[in-house]
Amino acid sequence: MRISDILKEDKIRLSYEFFPPKANSPFEPVFNAVEEVAKLKPAFCSVTYGASGGASANTMKVAGYIQNELGGSVLAHLTCVLSKKEEIEGKLQEMKDQGIKNILALRGDLPTDDPDRREKDFMYASDLIKYLKENHDFCLGGACYPEGHVESQDKDTDIGYLKLKEEVGAEFLTSQMFFDNNLFYNFMYKIRDRGIRIPIIPGIMPVTNVNQLKRIKELSGAQLPAKFVQIADKFRDKPEAMKQAGIIYASNQIIDLISNGFKLVHVYTMNKPEIAESIHDNLSNIIES
Ligand code: FAD
Repeated sequence: MRISDILKEDKIRLSYEFFPPKANSPFEPVFNAVEEVAKLKPAFCSVTYGASGGASANTMKVAGYIQNELGGSVLAHLTCVLSKKEEIEGKLQEMKDQGIKNILALRGDLPTDDPDRREKDFMYASDLIKYLKENHDFCLGGACYPEGHVESQDKDTDIGYLKLKEEVGAEFLTSQMFFDNNLFYNFMYKIRDRGIRIPIIPGIMPVTNVNQLKRIKELSGAQLPAKFVQIADKFRDKPEAMKQAGIIYASNQIIDLISNGFKLVHVYTMNKPEIAESIHDNLSNIIES
């Protein structure tokens, strides 16, 4: 199903994100994880894209498995900045062969060892979205950053580029993770004020291990509210307690988002079905699958 149609349904639902196995790693653990999560009847599952090391082929295989073996709706991520047009076309053909209808069109991160390395066919996500809209028939989404993208000069300029994504064909935006819903609501106010009208799917990351925090901060730049830092400090040396507290924190964020009118929330599950199951249990009388 196209995500634009899923978003029109009057139902409160969750979607879940998976990452494919690295090149030469087995598929079985990922297939098992998506099978477990499929039982929760998510709105859709997304599969991330790794541009290097053969992992991109694995994205298509996991996405195809969800679509064809599990009968679920799937959102395949696709990054462009390190790919030539011909390579992108090859990926699109693979997606069509698998019956995939939805793409999260991204620029992708620049390599840390060589930040100037890029192919010139698609410099930004909006270039990819425009190309896909003009030449293919996928339902297209893009990424948005409630606290601003880490490279952006300022938040207003960043929002201008989000507007461009809508103008060239994005039908929805999925957000970077955030831990303070008020920052997200503030962002929503700003983007609506700037005329962005497409649906925004908030992205929530259940932090179940304090070791994740440094990387989360580096990758997303998301602020950690005092309430969350207190939880992490308290349960730093008690992994099971931290896991439970992290899942409850994320569940509360989701309940707050739903109470504020968001029907679809995307959960970064890190391929751990037990996290998705616990959140689903916490919201069992709220979710309308
Ligand atoms: P863009 O929208 O192109 O923005 C990148 C930067 O350039 C921003 O600072 C923006 O302000 C600026 N910019 C945009 N357009 C222009 C313009 N025309 N002129 C000048 N500056 C401009 N990465 C992966 O490798 N694989 C994944 O599967 C993946 N999934 C993701 C899913 C979500 C929901 C999110 C939020 C991120 C994901 N990422 C993934 C990370 C993403 O690739 C990085 O954040 C990347 O640095 C930016 O991608 P983008 O599509 O947001 O880029």
